[in-house]
Amino acid sequence: MSMNVANCPKCGRIFVKGFNEVCPNCIKELEQQYDKCLRFLRDHRGCTITELSEETGVSIRQITKFIREGRISIIHAPNMSYSCEVCGTQIRENTMCEPCRSKLVKDVRNNNEDEHRRKERINQDHNVTYNIKDRLQDRNK
Ligand SMILES: [Zn+2]
Ligand SMILES: [Zn+2]
Repeated sequence: MSMNVANCPKCGRIFVKGFNEVCPNCIKELEQQYDKCLRFLRDHRGCTITELSEETGVSIRQITKFIREGRISIIHAPNMSYSCEVCGTQIRENTMCEPCRSKLVKDVRNNNEDEHRRKERINQDHNVTYNIKDRLQDRNK
């Protein structure tokens, strides 16, 4: 049986990869960070994400992750917000702000419409490349 060994993306230590993406040490650390954030938020509902990060020593990035994963709820913390994945606007739900989301939806729709045409264009590009290659080979003969 081969073991799936990987480097932990957080600390670089080698660990046996199972269901978790990070090593057991980092999982433990994450749980402690999560506890700290939860406890601080419970006592300081009016804090911002920056205050929470400064008081707990947990990075804003990690706190954002907890919120996005749904582990930390900010429904009762009116001043908590985090950055939109795309433009950095402060938001309180989803991973993107409303403008970025509607733009993405529009882009996806456009992509679908263009897909057929794009595929044709790619085929044409390939043909052009082959033609040039053929011509170069002809010249070398
Ligand atoms: Zn680790
Ligand atoms: Zn945005």
